[in-house]
Amino acid sequence: KVVCVTGASGYIASWLVKSLLSRGYTVKASVRDPSDPKKTQHLLSLDGAKERLHLFKADLLEEGSFDSAIDGCEGVFHTASPFYHDVKDPQAELIDPAVKGTLNVLNSCTKASSVKRVVVTSSMAAVAYNGKPLTPDVTVDETWFSDPEVCKTSKMWYVLSKTLAEDAAWKFAKEKGLDIVTINPAMVIGPLLQPTLNTSAAAILNFINGAKTFSNSTFGWVSVKDVANAHIQAYEIPSANGRYCMVERVLHHSEIVNILRQLYPNLQLPESCADENPYVPTYQVSKEKIKSLGIDYIPLEVSIKETVESLKEKGFI
Ligand code: NDP
Repeated sequence: KVVCVTGASGYIASWLVKSLLSRGYTVKASVRDPSDPKKTQHLLSLDGAKERLHLFKADLLEEGSFDSAIDGCEGVFHTASPFYHDVKDPQAELIDPAVKGTLNVLNSCTKASSVKRVVVTSSMAAVAYNGKPLTPDVTVDETWFSDPEVCKTSKMWYVLSKTLAEDAAWKFAKEKGLDIVTINPAMVIGPLLQPTLNTSAAAILNFINGAKTFSNSTFGWVSVKDVANAHIQAYEIPSANGRYCMVERVLHHSEIVNILRQLYPNLQLPESCADENPYVPTYQVSKEKIKSLGIDYIPLEVSIKETVESLKEKGFI
């Protein structure tokens, strides 16, 4: 059983590679720079890596770059996509690698006759931002699609990159008859396998690095272990199809601070909200479809604790 994971050195992908190796798969893993130990050492030391992990160099923006990593694979997990907010040129830094990169990877999949299914790591970013109000009585589900115009107006460039990339993936898959499934998680947290700090784990670190206030924001959250597991289930379960939203709970930042305070009473945490507006409301995200992949969410309190412990262990706290 041979599969490919793109962007294998990343936060979610590292967990995916770990889980695939533990389930006995041979993994062809694409990384941008196979010679950088920060990007590869944690993968090469995973159980089973010596025997069944193979690294390939590939870049999202280079056409045909993924051909050799994907050739001979039955399953492809496309996770590679830039995830950060501090960008100068959103088109070049986020949108092009997300959209062109996705099409590049999917194109390599159509060239390899071995490929049976592609699991694409999309995001709740591609689901929830269609301009409809998000309030406690609203349940977001897989029928929702974010609206690129809403993303542009609000300058949510990462959200736009994921929205356009998923849309391009579905159009390409339909046209070429490729079997794809998307996993759409919200903010992913839990232990880090890689030595570097990724954006969503940094979101937890930001509460405990001495900030006096928390921003008036509301996000969905989910465990990286559940997200990795869902990717594999979406590949292995023949009837899996379409998109899968993944949110254990939507919480306002004030509620995350409360959980952190209960877990770590001695930690210095932000005391108040950064503005005096009413709190941005929470909303619901349907858990119906993800159940069919056998996912029973790890409680957020557990994932938050695991994130903090991991950030301590890696020296970020
Ligand atoms: P990371 O930043 O840890 O991983 C991103 C990966 O994408 C890295 O391996 C990175 O490679 C790779 N990448 C970026 N640009 C390129 C490029 N031009 N060519 C090749 N590879 C590239 O983030 P996450 O693990 O969090 O994200 C993985 C996926 O999950 C992304 O698609 C993201 O949009 C999605 N996602 C993440 C969520 C989260 O909260 N973490 C929530 C929902 C979706 P390198 O290491 O070389 O930089």
